Amino acid sequence: MSKDIGSKTIGFIGLGNMGLPMATNLLAAGYSLRVYNRTLEKGRSLAEQGAILVNTPAEVVAPETIVITMLANDQVLEEAVLGENGILEKLSPSSIHLSMSTISPATAQHLAAQHEQQGVHYLAAPVFGRPDAAAAKKLWICISGNPAAKAEVAPVLDALGQGVFDFGETPEAANIVKVTGNFLIVSAIEAMAEAFTLAEKNGIDRTQIAELFGKTLFACPIYQNYGRMIAQQQYEPAGFKLSLGLKDVTLALQTARTSQMPMPLASLLHDRLMAAVAKGKGDLDWTGLASEMSEQAGIPPIPNP
Ligand code: NAD
Repeated sequence: MSKDIGSKTIGFIGLGNMGLPMATNLLAAGYSLRVYNRTLEKGRSLAEQGAILVNTPAEVVAPETIVITMLANDQVLEEAVLGENGILEKLSPSSIHLSMSTISPATAQHLAAQHEQQGVHYLAAPVFGRPDAAAAKKLWICISGNPAAKAEVAPVLDALGQGVFDFGETPEAANIVKVTGNFLIVSAIEAMAEAFTLAEKNGIDRTQIAELFGKTLFACPIYQNYGRMIAQQQYEPAGFKLSLGLKDVTLALQTARTSQMPMPLASLLHDRLMAAVAKGKGDLDWTGLASEMSEQAGIPPIPNP
């Protein structure tokens, strides 16, 4: 453990599918952690490794803290920052809020302005990679905000991911990038669902074409890993919930509206995800969107083993 890291306390808020493995890696890297989660029980394994569990977001703040948030959505994040017992009023000038949830660029802009009024640095740092990638320190991190603050959090990001892409100083820039990435992923999910179902309707094994394309024309993680799940129709347990996918396509459409551009494909995906959530599929993995295609094509689901 380096002396520099050993002296740092990090406040960590949000121990969901992503936050828990991320916080675990920070402990393993030698940071001291003060942790808050809505359900405190989720932090037990961290407490056994030395983390301090606290009862409100504000209590994660220690002198000279970096606070990391990894929460479900805009509303939950705003509550943890600006609500009763939120972090902002406790953060001292020059401290850093490293905001890693997938949220709207508009909320990032608003939060950055609120932080600036108190002299606190707000860094947008959303991530690509699922919980298994988080556990393996293989996240890809997009970042935007104050350069000195970015330099200060660099070792923290090293403990969480395999690479950082810097999108400059505009507070919401990294969030825009994240929204574009998730739009590309869910478009690929829908495309695979339609292609694999077309193959299946014509007597071809879904897993065989997933393997072909994953090894050749589309040899990349999204087509390989999601392709396998869609081919096998294995949508549980959720690494990334379908309901969160709906949130992210909604963020893309909101951003498109304020940018004055149509996103016809995003509109279609929004409605398909909305229909899936309405049918009770919100807690499936977002590859479960492909089950909509199977149903519409009259293909019965494969029961989970
Ligand atoms: P999750 O649903 O597993 O966890 C959500 C977290 O938010 C939990 O800590 C939960 O306690 C908290 N939360 C939810 N509603 C709350 C409320 N009303 N009040 C207080 N706390 C509340 O989600 P996750 O998969 O860990 O995702 C977290 C963030 O990371 C999201 O913004 C998501 O879009 C993003 N993300 C997820 C993945 C993934 O593969 N799971 C990948 C990249 C980014």
